[in-house]
Amino acid sequence: MKVTERVRRMKESSTLAVAARAAALKREGADVVAFGTGEPDFDTPANIKEAAERALRAGQTKYVLTPGTPEARAAVAAKLRDENGIACRPEHVSITAGAKHALYLVLQVLVEPGDDVVLPTPAWVSYRPLIELAGGRCIEVAGAMENGFKVTPAQLAAAMTPRTVAVILNSPSNPCGVAYSPDEVRALCEVVAAHPSASLVSDEIYEKLAYPEVTPGLRHFSPASIPAMADRTITLNGMSKAFAMTGWRIGYVCATGMGGAFMQELVKLQAQMTNNIPSFFMPAIVEALSAQSRPAVEKMRVEFARRARLVGDLVHAIPRFRSVAPDGAFYSFPSIAPCKKLTSPGGRRIVDGQSFAEALLAEVHVAVVPGADFGECAADHVRITFATDEATLRKGLSRIAEFTASLR
Ligand code: PMP
Ligand code: GLU
Repeated sequence: MKVTERVRRMKESSTLAVAARAAALKREGADVVAFGTGEPDFDTPANIKEAAERALRAGQTKYVLTPGTPEARAAVAAKLRDENGIACRPEHVSITAGAKHALYLVLQVLVEPGDDVVLPTPAWVSYRPLIELAGGRCIEVAGAMENGFKVTPAQLAAAMTPRTVAVILNSPSNPCGVAYSPDEVRALCEVVAAHPSASLVSDEIYEKLAYPEVTPGLRHFSPASIPAMADRTITLNGMSKAFAMTGWRIGYVCATGMGGAFMQELVKLQAQMTNNIPSFFMPAIVEALSAQSRPAVEKMRVEFARRARLVGDLVHAIPRFRSVAPDGAFYSFPSIAPCKKLTSPGGRRIVDGQSFAEALLAEVHVAVVPGADFGECAADHVRITFATDEATLRKGLSRIAEFTASLR
């Protein structure tokens, strides 16, 4: 047997690898605090589960159209019109096996070998591998921590060339835990608009998790609602984060461009690859996007906002960390740079985020994700996920503070 070069070269997903290591330690009996994977600790709201159960019992167990049932596509299109101001019709939508699958499909349709995709970093670990699998070159643009990890329009403009086929924007951001303001998004879109051959891929999976409680007035804004960007933007979203549905694997993608032809090509690829996601999930999507689910989603958002403040304060109070207060998603992404060249009580030398994360897990059983796979600028960072209850957050962060103070 052989393995292709493109798969052999691909990095494993470090977010999922950390989760697997933490789970293995737990099985061995260790009292592990897991701040690794980004998935809500809440259960899926009951009304959404019941919609899937009803459909299953009613025998909705057959193939449906590849991009989803007409009802589910209509519900997504209505959501994008009403909540995001995107002029989207049902035929512009496909429902995929998670936003990750949507991203894979979009990159396969957009990117030719040798094309450039501009990626503001730090950025989620899966963007670069999926860009490269499509044959593209990943052009990183590092957002400075002093600027809340946000890239400026001037930085973006400097990275774009006639070879740029796409720019990926993820706000609120994984792993930075920050959200761009509507004006900041508009300013970046002006730069993209000046490059007619470039599309914008807007990953809005954390749209519901923006915290005006931390940054007053903050709200999510969709680039595809800007008329000049409407047909140039591909919007990714899904059920995983806002509705606490990570295990269901439901994402969606909306693209109105090329008079609908872009979406037709994407669906052609999806039909050859996975076809539809489980058909009895379709009514659950309609239910999730209905008014019935809003109170549950808002309740989770308020709880995440409370945790964002708590974690922002506790991480800020660690003398050997440098950090930005999170105002979106459920991540804090401190720099551990002041810990470098120090040695842990167990004799491990800290040289970067990776060695810090390894020592932390081995010696005090707290799992965090090392920064390197989030971008070249992020090797001295670690990601702390705060999608867990307050007692666990306090326990884990006090272990991190003690461990950090114990370095010599
Ligand atoms: N985009 C970002 C920024 C993410 O953090 C994730 C992580 N789950 C995804 C997309 C994919 O989510 P899913 O496949 O669960 O919809
Ligand atoms: N996106 C989440 C994370 O960053 C889930 C794991 C993954 O798909 O990467 O932890």
